[in-house]
Amino acid sequence: DDDAALLADLEDPDAEGGLVRPAPVLAIVGRPNVGKSTLVNRILGRREAVVEDVPGVTRDRVRYRGEWGGRPLTLVDTGGWDIDAKGMASRIAEQAEVAVEQADGVVLVVDVTTGVTSTDEHVVRMLRRAGKPVLLAANKVDDERGEIAAAELWSLGLGEPHPISAMHGRGVADFLDEVIEMLPEHSQVDDAEAPGGPRRIALVGRPNVGKSSLLNRLFGSERVLVDNVAGTTRDPVDEIVELGGRPWRFVDTAGIKKRARQASGADYYAALRTQTALERAELALVLLEANETLSEQDVRIIRSATEAGRALVLAFNKWDLTDEERREWLAREIDKDLAHVAWAPRVNISAKTGRHAEKLVPAMERALENWDRRIPTSRFNAFLGELVAANPHPLRGGKQPRILFGTQASNRPPHFVLFTSGFLDPGYRRFITRRLRETFAFEGTPIEISMRIRE
Ligand code: GDP
Ligand code: GDP
Repeated sequence: DDDAALLADLEDPDAEGGLVRPAPVLAIVGRPNVGKSTLVNRILGRREAVVEDVPGVTRDRVRYRGEWGGRPLTLVDTGGWDIDAKGMASRIAEQAEVAVEQADGVVLVVDVTTGVTSTDEHVVRMLRRAGKPVLLAANKVDDERGEIAAAELWSLGLGEPHPISAMHGRGVADFLDEVIEMLPEHSQVDDAEAPGGPRRIALVGRPNVGKSSLLNRLFGSERVLVDNVAGTTRDPVDEIVELGGRPWRFVDTAGIKKRARQASGADYYAALRTQTALERAELALVLLEANETLSEQDVRIIRSATEAGRALVLAFNKWDLTDEERREWLAREIDKDLAHVAWAPRVNISAKTGRHAEKLVPAMERALENWDRRIPTSRFNAFLGELVAANPHPLRGGKQPRILFGTQASNRPPHFVLFTSGFLDPGYRRFITRRLRETFAFEGTPIEISMRIRE
């Protein structure tokens, strides 16, 4: 019947029992100017990874979703590093290591017009230690003459050098076929835990907001569980803690603690860590300064969390420092900046004094419960029926798009699909979203609504 056909239409090929299996992660490493960003752009088929010569630029995005031959993959571009001249070789290797740690496979790009340098050799040694599968791209082979120079890269001991021209596309398609061959079907590093394991939390926030202090507080006072939780595999970068009577997995706590050691390229790392942690987590616990207005970086982090489709809890830290007089003014400013995530629970805490840290748990539980929610199709359609009866879509040029049917296509986070007889105004869609939130209390979770227009 019709509804069954519509529902079959919605089957999400990536979803397995409600868990989306993440795409494999490919790190593209190499010295500055060898053509990493150019290669990333070629794979993405657009100029998204900015190719630029300005040193010290901080990039917002370092991970990109792409696909090749119908296979999805996540690209980590390491081109955004802020490298200083001193100790450059070892520093590049050290920095590439972070990206490689989080990847399922690696492409090392070498520039054949300059040949092998000591920096390349440093990077190769690091790659050997990391033990991840690697393919060697001999870039800037714009024509046949470059092939000989490419063959010299056998000396790196990474196997066959693949001559490509990232700029002109020469050899890139064959090379990418091999890259896809090398990668596992689903990421082994980003892989989600089996259902029933501890909920996965990404504690994120700008530097110095108090992430390490909060971890110390949470992990210091409570029993730390390691291996003996059902459904967990031991991952040295995560930590599990029991809070409010249940275990929670804080992902990539190692990354939070490591931060201080990374002097150069610190902003790049912060962005990379944040995005990776968000991808591995179910909920983003975003730490903000209670005593300051939101910074651009705070806003970016919140945006990354909602774009990643994670449940969200906002914690205002350093409450012990807040000043009564500023508080009212601050609250107004902060409300303005948070208008788009007014649905996220807020908790005021102090990692230093321990104030109200226990309130984090019920807020996280609420947010995750709503993130997991499924609204039965009958109930959702009853809601739509009432809404449309009381507030029909405004007439547009004598026509009125109708909502024929709706259903929740997936959860984590809730995603609703409306089948309509025409295009719904953005304003009307926002109205539906607002009503959905009012009616079903989706506190703490982003919700998505999409349309399918039936002629
Ligand atoms: P990254 O620092 O490794 O990300 O390098 P970029 O992608 O920014 O490239 C550095 C420079 O090399 C830019 O001027 C590119 O246009 C150039 N380039 C990249 N790939 C090729 C190529 O295949 N052939 C040639 N001739 N130039 C290239
Ligand atoms: P991270 O960079 O986000 O991990 O921040 P840290 O945990 O290293 O904290 C940065 C600084 O803020 C340190 O000097 C902490 O002692 C201080 N700090 C963290 N939480 C609080 C708090 O609740 N109150 C006060 N007064 N200081 C705090």
